[in-house]
Amino acid sequence: MRDVSMAIRICVAPGVCSLTPEQNAGTVCVWCPAALLPGEGIDLGGSGPWLPHACPACYHAQTAALATYYDWIEHHQQCEPCRSVPCEQSLALRHAAMRAREEAGRPPPLCASCLEVIGPGEGCIPLVWDGNGRPVLSILHTGPCAYPRRGFSIHVPPPAGGEW
Ligand SMILES: [Zn+2]
Ligand SMILES: [Zn+2]
Ligand SMILES: [Zn+2]
Repeated sequence: MRDVSMAIRICVAPGVCSLTPEQNAGTVCVWCPAALLPGEGIDLGGSGPWLPHACPACYHAQTAALATYYDWIEHHQQCEPCRSVPCEQSLALRHAAMRAREEAGRPPPLCASCLEVIGPGEGCIPLVWDGNGRPVLSILHTGPCAYPRRGFSIHVPPPAGGEW
C-alpha cells in the first residue's frame, strides 16, 4: 500500500478544536475511545498543543481509506477513456475506495459541489483541490456538478480535517 502518512496528518487527522484534551495530548485515539499508553499509539505527527495519536486498528482503517482514494484519483488523472465515461478499472477503484471509507467509519461522501450525498448508483469523480494552501480531498458528482457553469464555487470545508 502507498505511504499516506503525510496526507493522513494534513487531510484526515481531526483538528485541535474537534478533539478532547486527552486526544490532543495523544493519550486517547483521535478516532475511537481507546486509551493509549505512552509509546502505544501511532503518532500522527502533530506539534504544540496538537499531538494526535491513533490506535493501530483505526490507523490501519484510515490509511486504507486514504490509500484507495489516492489509487482512484491517480487512475482518474491518467486514464484517457475516464475523461468521458469511467472505465471498468475506475469503477473497481471507486468501489474499493468507498468500501474502505465505510470500513473506516466515515459518513457517506457528500458531493463538494451540490453538497448532496453521493448515492451508490450515481456517477462521481475524485478531485483534490487547493483550499488555501491545504489539499482538500473531495468527490464530485459527474454531470452538471463536475462540469459547472460560470459562477460555480466549491464548498470550502472548515479547516478541521477529515471532511472528505
Ligand atoms: Zn482508535
Ligand atoms: Zn479509467
Ligand atoms: Zn453534486
